[in-house]
Amino acid sequence: MAAKVMSERGRKLLLDFPVLAALREHDRKGIDGLVKLVEDAAEYNRTVVIPRALELDERMEREPDYFDWDMMREACKYRFFSLAIPEVVGGLASKYMVTGMALVVEELCSACGGIGLAIAAHSLGVAPVIASGAMVHWDTVLHEIVEEEKKGNPVLMAYAITEPSAGTDVEEPEFLEMAKIGMEAKKVKGGYRVNGRKCFISGGSEAKYLTLTAATDRSRPLETWTTFLVERDMDGYSTPRVELKMGQRACHAAELLFEDVFIPDSHVLGYEGDGMANGILIIMAASRGPVGSIATGIARGGFEHFLAWTRESRDGKRPIDEDRIRMALADMWAAIQENRSLYLSHSLGGDALFRNAFTHPLFLSAFLVPHQVRASKPYSTILNSYYGKGLVNILFRYFIKDDDATDMLAKASLAKFACADNAMYLTGRALELMGMDDSPQRRWVEKAYRDAKLTQIYEGTNQLNRLAFFNAEIANTLKIEVPGPFKKGVR
Ligand SMILES: Cc1cc2nc3c(=O)[nH]c(=O)nc-3n(C[C@H](O)[C@H](O)[C@H](O)COP(=O)(O)OP(=O)(O)OC[C@H]3O[C@@H](n4cnc5c(N)ncnc54)[C@H](O)[C@@H]3O)c2cc1C
Repeated sequence: MAAKVMSERGRKLLLDFPVLAALREHDRKGIDGLVKLVEDAAEYNRTVVIPRALELDERMEREPDYFDWDMMREACKYRFFSLAIPEVVGGLASKYMVTGMALVVEELCSACGGIGLAIAAHSLGVAPVIASGAMVHWDTVLHEIVEEEKKGNPVLMAYAITEPSAGTDVEEPEFLEMAKIGMEAKKVKGGYRVNGRKCFISGGSEAKYLTLTAATDRSRPLETWTTFLVERDMDGYSTPRVELKMGQRACHAAELLFEDVFIPDSHVLGYEGDGMANGILIIMAASRGPVGSIATGIARGGFEHFLAWTRESRDGKRPIDEDRIRMALADMWAAIQENRSLYLSHSLGGDALFRNAFTHPLFLSAFLVPHQVRASKPYSTILNSYYGKGLVNILFRYFIKDDDATDMLAKASLAKFACADNAMYLTGRALELMGMDDSPQRRWVEKAYRDAKLTQIYEGTNQLNRLAFFNAEIANTLKIEVPGPFKKGVR
């Protein structure tokens, strides 16, 4: 059979990322899989996102409650909601899971930061289900996402950690210890009763499933921080409002309200009390790098529209013919390439780490049991028991060492704050150079500027990420302790 000819977008990707071109010499199938993902994202941008993004942004300023489900349904065709779901349960997450996510997110955000976030926030919601090794829910929730996506129905997830009185504080062990926590998940017979609010949750108002972190004792949040799986139709759970956002408007930031919501024991991901290590630090170690790629995509989109603007003639002159504009364009491209090397160094390192665990025969052997049996009650009771979870811990501990996880967190935080700051610099400079122009390109760049701002805030503000990087890489005072066999591994 003749080999498929690579598209122009695919060839450009390999030129922009020479490290991928070099890896392709050794692993053509794996890297061609990444190229295909980016080609798909480029096609989705061209056919769905670009024609609607500006109009959608304006509409959501007037109607912040509106959500474009059609665009989500059309994303199903490319299976973007399965990007973080391992292949063994039918998802697309290959041995380049983190890199695939980062590259797709850059591509999507080059067209619209909001649509890119709507898709990325879903994978962030999926991540704790994967990282906790809660295979019971792989066979139910993740299986449902994959199967419904194939039919064109997006089943979305979201990740909720921020509370009205604790944002930065819930992202760092030292701060969580002193945080003023509002939500509590009180232990009762057979589960937990949850009361309180979460806020600014990306995609929270659309999510069918939620991964939630909460204290089981508000006076000792660090020791009792726990990750739960929440289902939208649980009694007492609601999403009363969404924010009017300055940027990335296509993705809602929602407030979530829990009024005596009962969450059964089976919906604790990992162990009670391991939420800081398992539910936050390991997730942030994986996901802050892709936030860097969100920022990079927004910056690249801004750059491309600015470049188009510089080529247009005004009063017989083209801005691109001036040296000061040419130098600005060179600076902007340098910022984009710097971003890419930062997020790629995180993602390739992360893939090397996770690949060992998720491709190990011991792990894969669990999936030799037929799906119906795996999803059955007796099997799930065993997997969800103290010892079942302990076995998963042993596997994770064996493959993912504390130092490697901590190094990944450092690289993730570095990529996050540096890429976000570069995106603000780039889009801001482009706007200044364009001046009071009312061209369509300026509207795109202005949107990119507003979209970029939010990447400095979420997944920990850039201040917090600078501190996390310093503590993990330079001072060695922040260390992830991967939960051990039958242990919580708080930090
Ligand atoms: C668009 C958007 C999407 C979001 N999506 C999600 C989501 O999906 N899930 C979720 O759980 N959360 C989400 N968030 C919340 C986000 O993670 C928090 O806004 C962020 O962690 C900051 O918390 P805060 O808003 O409470 O600010 P604060 O913590 O009150 O911080 C205010 C300022 O003080 C600084 N600061 C605070 N403490 C320190 C310190 N110790 N040292 C130095 N500086 C400090 C901060 O850097 C910041 O500049 C989202 C936020 C936004 C804006």
